[in-house]
Amino acid sequence: MTGRPEAKGQRSKQTRVSRGSDQWRAIASLVERWFRANKRPLPWREAYEPWHVWVSEVMAQQTRMDVVVARFPELVARFPTIESMARASEADVVAAWSGLGYYRRARMLHRGACEVMSRFGGELPAAVEALRSIPGVGRYTAGSIGSIAFGLPAAIVDGNVARVVARLDMIDAPLKSGALEKRAWELAEALVGAARRPRDFNQGLMELGARVCTPQNPACDGCPLTAYCRAFEANRVEEFPVRVATKRPVDVAIPLYVFTDKSGRVLFRRGEGKLMHDMLHLPHGSDALYPHPLKISKPGPVVGTVKHSITSRRITFEVHCPAPGAKAVADAPGEWLWLAPEELASHAHPSYVRKALQLIAALRATEGRR
Ligand code: SF4
Repeated sequence: MTGRPEAKGQRSKQTRVSRGSDQWRAIASLVERWFRANKRPLPWREAYEPWHVWVSEVMAQQTRMDVVVARFPELVARFPTIESMARASEADVVAAWSGLGYYRRARMLHRGACEVMSRFGGELPAAVEALRSIPGVGRYTAGSIGSIAFGLPAAIVDGNVARVVARLDMIDAPLKSGALEKRAWELAEALVGAARRPRDFNQGLMELGARVCTPQNPACDGCPLTAYCRAFEANRVEEFPVRVATKRPVDVAIPLYVFTDKSGRVLFRRGEGKLMHDMLHLPHGSDALYPHPLKISKPGPVVGTVKHSITSRRITFEVHCPAPGAKAVADAPGEWLWLAPEELASHAHPSYVRKALQLIAALRATEGRR
């Protein structure tokens, strides 16, 4: 249900009235109570250790929560303290981040850890302004660490929070616009300022957005905020946040070559530049997206495909296993190297590389059984 039945089909003509402090307190209290009754048992919620909260927030910024939960334990086992990450090389941190994408996050987390060691003696400061002075820690992350790790009344606005408050207050501004962002931060600040436990409130508002006030078909029936939600009151939930037309992602097919030598090693290129992110890639054809394609005389047939999405592209990698002796010319910068597939784990690489090698291994296992 996404609105009051009696209001169905009607548009509210109510005049926007600002909320008093009693309303902020009531909303905050409902969110906190809902959170305590419904919170998911996430690993960093066991002790709210500040380093764990920081890592989880950085991971969750552009990665699905199920993936974050699956990868979090190995990451904090590999880097159990800020000091351990600061002592590691950036390449080690990026390698540990492999498959999570958006590798700039890993580099900035490493830089941030180094800074915390040099300026704060290895302990995250319990003050929002000091947190914001750490490289890679912006307004959102500082608010997350401040409130979740230290219980400070610091606001946070992510996509989930923006959606909930856009509906709560019927914010008439497009999604991702400066106007929506400004108003969302104002509301989030008013609300967290009225919360008894900012830690529970902020996590509750994010989780309410992720599980109840979802982008499509929000479950208003199970929402604790119906009495205070203006979009629900006006039966206009589907209209908020205001959407703008987005470009459809472009489909691109790119040949991908898995060259194998006699001892089973695979040929990789450590790419340079923004798209290649200094990571290990497999040689590829077509410069539709990645520059410097390999020119090859006999690529052999396509043995399978691997799907990969980046920014506004949906890529289908068409995987070839060129026969020994195939002539190939690569006019590409970067380092070429032969590695055994099991060595891949210690080098940073995008997830499509691992999927392509898994595809080849599965094909060879099938052939071996025949
Ligand atoms: Fe529905 Fe609650 Fe979201 Fe309002 S805040 S739209 S009542 S789910």
